[in-house]
Amino acid sequence: RFEQAEILNRLPEQFFAKLVKKVNAFVKQGVDIINLGQGNPDLPTPSHIVKALQKAADNPDFHKYSPFRGYSFLKEAVAAFYEREYGVKLDPEKEVAVLFGGKAGLVEISPCILNPGDIALVPDPGYPDYWSGIALARAQMHMMPLLAENHFLPDYEQIPAEVLRKAKLMFLNYPNNPTAATATPEFFAETVELAAKHRLLVVHDFAYGAIGYDGQKPISFLETPGAKEVGVEIYTLSKTYNMAGWRIAFMVGNEQVIESINLYQDHMYVSLFGAVQAAAREALLGPQDCVRELVEIYERRRNAFIGRLQALGWQVQAPKGSFFCWLPVPKGYTSETFADLLLEQAHVAVAPGIGFGSHGEGYVRVGLLTDESRLVEAAERMAYVLKKVE
Ligand code: PLP
Repeated sequence: RFEQAEILNRLPEQFFAKLVKKVNAFVKQGVDIINLGQGNPDLPTPSHIVKALQKAADNPDFHKYSPFRGYSFLKEAVAAFYEREYGVKLDPEKEVAVLFGGKAGLVEISPCILNPGDIALVPDPGYPDYWSGIALARAQMHMMPLLAENHFLPDYEQIPAEVLRKAKLMFLNYPNNPTAATATPEFFAETVELAAKHRLLVVHDFAYGAIGYDGQKPISFLETPGAKEVGVEIYTLSKTYNMAGWRIAFMVGNEQVIESINLYQDHMYVSLFGAVQAAAREALLGPQDCVRELVEIYERRRNAFIGRLQALGWQVQAPKGSFFCWLPVPKGYTSETFADLLLEQAHVAVAPGIGFGSHGEGYVRVGLLTDESRLVEAAERMAYVLKKVE
């Protein structure tokens, strides 16, 4: 009876909804599917954080509206966390914004910065939520290819001068979803230089900030000299502390941009449930053994899965960070036909690279989101199918 507004038609297709449907059709028939297609952490939230939530939920003060823009105790905890983890000093009131999950912040930042017709630079392949905010702002995207030969870092030399003139915003994400690449200090320094020269705002998505392998801790964009003048970083608790269902994240960095996102959010929400904010403080400032254990678990899973694939003759690169593996598809297949083959014949669900942009074609993404023995079984089933088709 009602026609939806034109802006909704501009939103990108939810590619992964299609994948979920396909997987569910198999599961319904009772097929034993190993689902490595989605990015939902399988581990529980550490118990001391859950206990902090339970205790805080008994506090009637937290049953009221929490302050607009979040409790100061939480913003102070974020500042202390950044100083402890990255040596970055933040003003808790001016350089920290509380978000309803990273996804909300990544979508909301575009209408805060972009006018219709402006350009946003977007990594390709990349996390599709960047596209949604840009569409809502009626702005345009310019894709920056992430290629294996450049270690999945964008090559800024390839961006036409005309595009740089109109570009106002650039999204980056390291450790990267989906390629599992990590950034270097040199690359971030080059980014700050480019952004300063072209008056670009850099939005660094640091969702996998805690997950780096082989003893390499991922670097924060804000560690780069000059980064605060040109950028903000989004840090979510979803992956570091397995709190994906809790919906809590932060934006930190440039004071003007923090004010803009806060202003936008003032019109969208009152802040999060106070007890969630209290538990988030415990996550950030409480014992951190759980984070070390989390990284060890993912590293063991990575080694088991990649090791088994390699032993079975599939030459693949081990990821450097995030909890994904980015695997090239064999000749004769697209990312979608190969993902379908794995689902139908190996009963392993993976995400086709094309869902992350046209430069994701030729790859599938595997999430290390089940225990080691299931991952080894997935590798065996996949390698078996691969042998059959080669
Ligand atoms: N950014 C990237 C690259 C992600 O993979 C995710 C989650 O999958 C997010 C951001 C959003 O995380 P959340 O909305 O749970 O904070």
